[in-house]
Amino acid sequence: MAKYTGPVCKLCRREGNKLFLKGERCLGANCSFNKNPVPPGQHGASRKKATAYSIQLREKQKTKRTYGLMEGQFHSYYEKATNLRGVTGELMLILIERRLDNVVYRMGISSSRAQSRQLVGHGHICVNGEKVNIPSYLVKAGDVVSIKQSKQDKPFFKDLKSQKVSNLPKWLSFDPATLTGKVEALPERADIDVQVSEHMIVELYSK
Ligand code: SF4
Repeated sequence: MAKYTGPVCKLCRREGNKLFLKGERCLGANCSFNKNPVPPGQHGASRKKATAYSIQLREKQKTKRTYGLMEGQFHSYYEKATNLRGVTGELMLILIERRLDNVVYRMGISSSRAQSRQLVGHGHICVNGEKVNIPSYLVKAGDVVSIKQSKQDKPFFKDLKSQKVSNLPKWLSFDPATLTGKVEALPERADIDVQVSEHMIVELYSK
């Protein structure tokens, strides 16, 4: 699956928001956005006035980049959401939030979604006791997410056992002692902490 391999801090500056793409570094003094919060490029600070289209585009890019998705993958969630009953923008976000790589990140197992994707891709994560190495796997209510038994002795996971769980959304639980979490319920829009106006993405795609 294709992925963005360019400089990620530039993406935060371009979107005018911290997208938390680099784990620990995002919380420290070395965050590039804190140091220089203007769009990249020679004329970054003096870009012309935003239009309705450019605002919609930025909302879409911000969301897509926050979750580390390429355009085709992101658009497919919109397509799926249009076939469901309800508010398309919210349904689209909820589908993306249910991705296994996002769930691993939100449980606090990894410090970024990119790291989660690696953990999943390298076969470290199990769902209901079975290895799942597909980052886009959509979790369901009641699913149990755990670290593969044979990988639990790795220093990364040993360290995790002694860490406290914080900022866990209410639809997820995680026990560091057993390295096991559960999808208590499907997420609702209010559980998703990405600051985005999803209706603008729907307006953009439905043109
Ligand atoms: Fe964005 Fe994190 Fe880089 Fe800061 S350190 S600019 S939040 S990716």
